[in-house]
Amino acid sequence: MLVESPVVPTGQGSTMRILVTGGAGFVGSHLCERLLAEGHEVICVDNLSTGRLQNVAGLLDHPSFTYLAHDVVEPLPPLPRLDRIYHLASPASPPAYQRNPIATLRVNSEGTRHVLELAAVHDASFLYASTSEVYGDPLEHPQCEEYRGNVSTVGPRSMYDEAKRCGEALTIAYAREHEVETRIVRIFNTYGPRMDPNDGRVVSNFIVQALRGTPLTVYGAGSQTRSFQYVDDLIDGMIRLMESAHCGPVNIGNPSEYTILQFAQLIRELTATAAPIEFLPLPADDPKQRRPDITLAQTVLGWEPRVSVRAGLAATIAYFKEELGADLVAANGHHRNYSLPAHMIGRRDVIQSTVN
Ligand code: NAD
Ligand code: UDP
Repeated sequence: MLVESPVVPTGQGSTMRILVTGGAGFVGSHLCERLLAEGHEVICVDNLSTGRLQNVAGLLDHPSFTYLAHDVVEPLPPLPRLDRIYHLASPASPPAYQRNPIATLRVNSEGTRHVLELAAVHDASFLYASTSEVYGDPLEHPQCEEYRGNVSTVGPRSMYDEAKRCGEALTIAYAREHEVETRIVRIFNTYGPRMDPNDGRVVSNFIVQALRGTPLTVYGAGSQTRSFQYVDDLIDGMIRLMESAHCGPVNIGNPSEYTILQFAQLIRELTATAAPIEFLPLPADDPKQRRPDITLAQTVLGWEPRVSVRAGLAATIAYFKEELGADLVAANGHHRNYSLPAHMIGRRDVIQSTVN
């Protein structure tokens, strides 16, 4: 952890039993760790489709931690009484969800319904991990929660964007029809230790490429923007939302906005790499700009990000150095291609150039 997170009271001041779906993923593993540190009992459910058991390896011997291998598209097995459910199970990186469009739609629709049923039976509060992707390629900037989005139902991101919109709709339907205590968090681009080096997201791609000394792959001209949040800030925001009286949706993200080209230059600077920048075609429907309006989170949760992008990236770069370890030394110019699959790339007129 980079900064001392403020102590957020999780519930009634007593130990709770908390289910985290997708708990072996990047975000889920940090959430499990934080909830255990607060003294709660945690059941982590994951099918390891995009997560890694190594993310929770350090928790497996913890007496209050249980790992359950299960695909939430199937109904969950009987579980002891639950107080809280954080539902994070879903692929999150564009290459991962585009490789598995039906699984992505199913986990956020059928899977979300199963987990909501469980919340209803256990009278447990339920938090759904939604995304800034519900705003699509936004026509309003920055994006506030009232904005309804600009999403294609049939575009190359529709399996994720529409799945998450469906997940939100199911969540609010269970709140209305079954009086489940629900929360919806809209998560903006988040990075940090335990990201999978192979998952194809921009932060992991650029850092891995920079550390290997291979070109940083900027899609398009790099003029599209993203706003990057460190994972500790996200975990703090999710727990605050769960324990608040506000059902959401609430944006949780860091409003520090970068063009992707600026971000590549920042990674080059922080890794002190000589690796050049290589321009590749922009994937179709890639959102042109993204920055959260966090007024609601500031007002109702007293939350705002505390970790600067530079500090968060320094910790993340240190993690990747350790993660790649001997592999980095062995790489010596050979590298895997962590880019989008070719059929997902919009233009075929590849322009390659080098920016110094
Ligand atoms: P991740 O891929 O690292 O974690 C997702 C986890 O869900 C993985 O461990 C995966 O194995 C598990 N999973 C997927 N399908 C499953 C299924 N059917 N049954 C059980 N487990 C399943 O991704 P992440 O970055 O940790 O994202 C976590 C959640 O946050 C996702 O719901 C994602 O949509 C959301 N989110 C993340 C970001 C981000 O920038 N990281 C941004 C917006 C939203
Ligand atoms: N991107 C890039 N090079 C990469 C990976 C991604 O230029 O190697 C761009 C991508 O086109 C998008 C942005 O970086 O504009 C963020 O991509 P990511 O996959 O991390 O998440 P998104 O916000 O698109 O879901």
